[in-house]
Amino acid sequence: MSGVAPTTLEQLEVAQRQACRIITGCLRSTPAPALEREADVMPFAIRRRQLTAAATQRHLRDLPGDPLQPVLTATRPRQRLHRDRGWADTGLSTSSDAGLGDLPREPVLVVPRTPPWESAAGGVTISSAVARPTKRTDPPDKRLEAAQETLAGLPPADYTVFTDGSATDGVENGGAGAVVFRGAAELERIRTPAGRWTSSYRAELTALDSALASLLRGAEGPAPREVRICTDSQSALRRLAEGPAAQTDVLADRVWQRLLDLADRGTHTSLQWVPGHAGLPGNELADEIAREAANLEQHDVPIDLPSAKARLRRHAHREWEQRLQPTRYALQNGVRRPPTAERLGLSRRECVEVARLRTGHSLMLREYRHRIGLEDDPTCPECGLEDETLTHLLTDCPARADARRRIFGEDEPEIKEALGDPTKLVELLRRLGRL
Ligand SMILES: [Zn+2]
Repeated sequence: MSGVAPTTLEQLEVAQRQACRIITGCLRSTPAPALEREADVMPFAIRRRQLTAAATQRHLRDLPGDPLQPVLTATRPRQRLHRDRGWADTGLSTSSDAGLGDLPREPVLVVPRTPPWESAAGGVTISSAVARPTKRTDPPDKRLEAAQETLAGLPPADYTVFTDGSATDGVENGGAGAVVFRGAAELERIRTPAGRWTSSYRAELTALDSALASLLRGAEGPAPREVRICTDSQSALRRLAEGPAAQTDVLADRVWQRLLDLADRGTHTSLQWVPGHAGLPGNELADEIAREAANLEQHDVPIDLPSAKARLRRHAHREWEQRLQPTRYALQNGVRRPPTAERLGLSRRECVEVARLRTGHSLMLREYRHRIGLEDDPTCPECGLEDETLTHLLTDCPARADARRRIFGEDEPEIKEALGDPTKLVELLRRLGRL
């Protein structure tokens, strides 16, 4: 799709708009931006750039020898006669627009470094169990109590480490924090940036990685016999629990490599889950350190492929919203994904009418019927005062004020509010005898 001719692209765009009309039941005259938003189908050109950039990111991270890599890394003479500059330029420029341009890339892991027949056998324990199971919704003191009980029940450790990761919105400016205790004495606080574009999972794993690196560095004397690492990340533990040979990313693979290195020195490491934000002092401290780490310079932190793809996805959605912004549709409905009428238990017919009204291209509106030549007179049949437009029907028409008050609680509801609630909209149409 990334390298096809402009005429083919146009044909595909036409086909996509046709599909959107089938999905929504919207009329032919509906402008493409409104139509695509109602169908929740990204504009073709934006989607194409996103997919092309994702492929580019993949090839840039692949093994040396990938035949497409030279195409992406070579400097080419400008092709003055070509308007479309090819998939490589599209992918690279979109990546750069999304903020991925000058950040280092983490290669993809083709084969885990640990062969399947080698395992940590006894050197590493991973546990998500707590003494008494609690829920996220339980009061903090109850969760704290359960956490403390769990830690008290574990065998004594030479080193106890608390790790935590943080990321703005779960995807930006990652920070990893770890605090190392020898017995009860605090030994070290470790702050590590976890990537300009990242995930909470990666921030958590970065914290584990940096904590293990520090333990390995500090092991000049006799190796500790027992190390305990407490994290509040179920997802990181679940992934690691699959074993060293099952890891699919460089970071998790490295964490396992460090765990095995520690095991080789005779250290038993137990990774223990603890509830987060429950007031457990070590966990709270690690959380604070992780937040501080998020402000560190992120420029040298490699971005992994899933985070790069997630970034491109978000960038594409932002681009879509920007394209929608200046339209009348956006003014009346906003730029976000519309409420899914289907899930509210509405019938197909009701869903179609809602979608048509939201786009303003609805046969229910006399002004619209007049516009497409189905009606001689655009005037509202109920009040006869003005043209029956969407605004007239939903906020201005005095003849429908009573019905609107019963349903929306006011005579003149905000048009955005009226269009944003399909259930009420359908109720109004029923009350007006239109459905
Ligand atoms: Zn009227």
